[in-house]
Amino acid sequence: MRSYLNLFLYLLLFIFFLTPIQLMGQQPKVHILTTGGTIASVNGAPMIDGPQLVQAVPQLLDYADISVEEFSKIGSSKMNPENWLQLARRINELIREKPEIASIIITHGTDSMEETAFFLNLTVKTNIPVIIVGSMRSSNEISADGPANLLNAVRVGISPEAKGKGVLVVLNENISAGRDLIKINNRRVETFKAHELGYLGFADPDTVIFYRAPLKPHTLNSHFDLRGTEQLPKVDIIQDFAGFDPEILELIGQRDIDGLVISSFAGGRMSYGMLEGLEKIADKNIPIVIASSIKQGRIIGKPYREQGWIISPDLPANKARILLMLALTKTSDKGDIQEIFNTY
Ligand code: ASP
Repeated sequence: MRSYLNLFLYLLLFIFFLTPIQLMGQQPKVHILTTGGTIASVNGAPMIDGPQLVQAVPQLLDYADISVEEFSKIGSSKMNPENWLQLARRINELIREKPEIASIIITHGTDSMEETAFFLNLTVKTNIPVIIVGSMRSSNEISADGPANLLNAVRVGISPEAKGKGVLVVLNENISAGRDLIKINNRRVETFKAHELGYLGFADPDTVIFYRAPLKPHTLNSHFDLRGTEQLPKVDIIQDFAGFDPEILELIGQRDIDGLVISSFAGGRMSYGMLEGLEKIADKNIPIVIASSIKQGRIIGKPYREQGWIISPDLPANKARILLMLALTKTSDKGDIQEIFNTY
């Protein structure tokens, strides 16, 4: 009888004390990697340490069990391909070593966020939400947007619907696909747009809601794998303009590059100078990708394909450069690279 009483008391103890404690421990685990940017800035310079940035938003703890790691403390205009490689490696490592993590959040400057987002979208191997977030106003400005953006990023990160949608960017309550967003404004908090493709959803105060999912291959479906890649191929971008001087391409031809992206006029059209310059560097035999500097609509460029150039149907030059870098880790065949551009 006495032992039944003990059992009953243990049960009561479990129900009233242990269960709430266990439930507290069962909040989703979210790992935040901080890289710098305006979200970590005071008076425009990235100065705030990772843990300090996260501690400034105690509301995060209402949603998740947070861990923080400072990856770097730089403005995103200073990001480079080595940083991308290291960041992708670190994320892939975290995913392997800490399977309990529900989401990884990266705080990042907005200047090159679209490039990092696209790179990671193609190189991190997971279906857990990887969310990139930043802000347009420094932490000490009136109505700083960083804290709300960070909170929304965590809310999106733990949303079951965010799973399997690749790398996402959360800013100003909008959720964008890592492939599609473009920074469009120097000042305003509504700086990311995916133009014709639109937002995927919203982090509204009442709920996180998705309306669509990206269909282009990403993360687990992307066939790019960085294991064994120590350095990314070197690819330059050249902007065409009225009266382009072919000598610019002759100079580029002297550089030790693996590929070149031309940011062309609308529809992939190019100036006489650019066409003449391209002829001059033809014997370099590197893949040349034509990407339009106009942000909406596809380019078709059939005659250019006949010239042996590769068309980037809708990726702008900065993302076409990233895709060409990754494509070159797989193949140097121009037909195969065109296929990659048609696919991604
Ligand atoms: N200068 C900032 C950057 O690191 C701009 C921003 O974060 O909004 O990109």
